Amino acid sequence: MNTPRKKAKIHLVEESSSGNHKGVNPLQKQREQLPIARGKDALVREIRDNDVIILLGETGSGKTTQVPQYILESGMAGSGMIAVTQPRRVAATSLAARVAAEQNVSVGSLVGYSVRFDEACSADTRIKYVSDGMLVRELLSDPLLSRYSVIVVDEAHERTLRTDFLIANLKTIQAKRNTSNDIKGKRPAPELNPLKIVIMSATLDAEKFSRFYNNARVLYVKGRQHPVQTFHTAASQTDYVDAALRTFFQIHTDKPPGDVLIFLPGQEDIESLDKSIKMYARRLPEERMSVLVCLMYAALPPTQQARIFSPTPPGTRKCILATNIAETSITIPGIKYVIDTGKCKEKRYLSKDTGGGFDTLLTRDITKSSAMQRAGRAGREGPGFCFRLYTEDAFSSMAASAEPEIRRCSLTQSLLQLKCLGQDLEAVDFMDRPDVEAIYSALKTLWLLGALDNAKSLTVLGRQMASFPVEPYLARIILASGEHGCASEVIDIVSLISSSSKLFVDISEQRDAISDARRKFRHPSGDHMTMLNALRSYQNVAAAESKIGRKEWCRQHFINERTFVEALKIRDQLRLTCGRLGVDWRSTRADNEEPVLRCFVAGLVQQSAFLQPDGSYKQIIGQSVVKIHPGSTLCEKKVPAIIYDELVYTTQIYARGVSSVPKSFFTAATPPSGS
Ligand code: ADP
Ligand code: MG
Repeated sequence: MNTPRKKAKIHLVEESSSGNHKGVNPLQKQREQLPIARGKDALVREIRDNDVIILLGETGSGKTTQVPQYILESGMAGSGMIAVTQPRRVAATSLAARVAAEQNVSVGSLVGYSVRFDEACSADTRIKYVSDGMLVRELLSDPLLSRYSVIVVDEAHERTLRTDFLIANLKTIQAKRNTSNDIKGKRPAPELNPLKIVIMSATLDAEKFSRFYNNARVLYVKGRQHPVQTFHTAASQTDYVDAALRTFFQIHTDKPPGDVLIFLPGQEDIESLDKSIKMYARRLPEERMSVLVCLMYAALPPTQQARIFSPTPPGTRKCILATNIAETSITIPGIKYVIDTGKCKEKRYLSKDTGGGFDTLLTRDITKSSAMQRAGRAGREGPGFCFRLYTEDAFSSMAASAEPEIRRCSLTQSLLQLKCLGQDLEAVDFMDRPDVEAIYSALKTLWLLGALDNAKSLTVLGRQMASFPVEPYLARIILASGEHGCASEVIDIVSLISSSSKLFVDISEQRDAISDARRKFRHPSGDHMTMLNALRSYQNVAAAESKIGRKEWCRQHFINERTFVEALKIRDQLRLTCGRLGVDWRSTRADNEEPVLRCFVAGLVQQSAFLQPDGSYKQIIGQSVVKIHPGSTLCEKKVPAIIYDELVYTTQIYARGVSSVPKSFFTAATPPSGS
């Protein structure tokens, strides 16, 4: 299986990184027992014989972890790399860790990952788990993705915008790379090594992928699925977190051992349920099984992810609280009971009339396909149970499957990336075509930001914006800071905004206490400068205090320390990009917030509102009336004009991350200079 050369390479890495390289890796036995292992030889043969393969298989059958290893071990990747794309970064990092362990190497050597703001790769890396967005980004510097000989597009059924973007581009890339070598009499360019594409999906929607790739061959892995008994509630539940809590303790007191997996829409609900379960678990009688709660969501630090995979100690019931990441991306062993709240968070574009122009995360009902996947998680190792916290009627009225993101998300960033590749949204052969209205809206945003000129052509500014690993509007803010000489301040604030968790903890019942605690950071102009002040204070504390001291300081000020830690990493990346573009990230105007706010106005042209005579705020572009979020430092304030980071929809439309700016800033900022 291994060619001698490759084997030598693996051992080389092993010796420097792992202590037990002499022993047999116990994970090898687990590998051999996976459903996919039986089909290994046939699978390798098929991939060798076909340019494109569509591989379908039950979650947990071993697609994501095994197929890349089979390809590597067969030698068919030659000297090129194997990329495996994932819609979620946390899945990419966690899977890379698992596959590295199976190969007995450390992450970043033979097996690595690359996700936004984080990477573990080296010259030895042959299997690379990447977020789909990272591979799109690589396209910009290497339009033929020539470093890769095999690209595995995983979780294709999720139909994220970036995965669809890749599926479309890979088709043309493959046509270029594979045919120019076939043309008789023409010397193939040595860098044009042929490309193999493997599309993997957990649902049975192969037809569409196959048709798109000229009727590519479809293979099925037969999974192991035990019966799962499913229950629905008799009446609909208004508070799904509370319903999940009660259901968990019913299982815990009445049912035999077996771990429980609870699906919740997002991090806030997960954290709140975590607290309640722990609180009630402490009150259980001593002789009861103890409860071990583990969490799994996008922003969870890698050190805590490992816990969900470690074996449950005897006399304990593990309870995993997860978002839809545990639906198909990550298989957690030992689950016998699933509790499904029936909710998920979905990225959705808010059109002009709702006051949007960008994406927002909304909690909504899941689809039938998700509900079935969730139930399936209970039957991986034996018969299981699924408790749906919604009625059977609610299930029947769910949509069959989710609409692809390309039909419901902002196309701004993708359009900018396509423009850099010399393509246009209208012209690309996508599996599903985007809406004309959405294309128009993306064009308008990019024009307002100065990325496109009046002829819809990419400007120098636009190309620079695409170099940043953040949304175009944030890139615009950073680029403006180069001109205004305040890049240091602006990059700090943009890094905080780009973090996956919010800096300021907002608990509505404790707003007065929170406001008191944070008084010393408060800046009269609003939330952006306030965040910067908090970061500065934290850095002083971090320089003087121990880890415990820092933690305590954050707790006292109702601040998420994780946001700081992540932001500092993001800041390094943004500074690197600035360095490459010749933007001096050291430039600073510490004494003056005015230039900083001017930069934000340049990027937040569509996220701004003027005060109306009746005291409300009306968007400058767009029709909506917005209120300042109660958690903002500017709440209740009446200022002539505001800019904001995002809108949140509850009973009203709230602007969050708000700063007050002089109205005159806008006349200077719009209309944009265009070309
Ligand atoms: P598929 O892609 O077909 O859903 P995977 O390749 O992800 O399947 O999973 C195969 C097996 O590997 C599963 O049984 C799963 O429990 C195990 N596995 C995957 N990731 C990890 C991990 N980080 N730690 C422990 N086991 C894991
Ligand atoms: Mg998988």
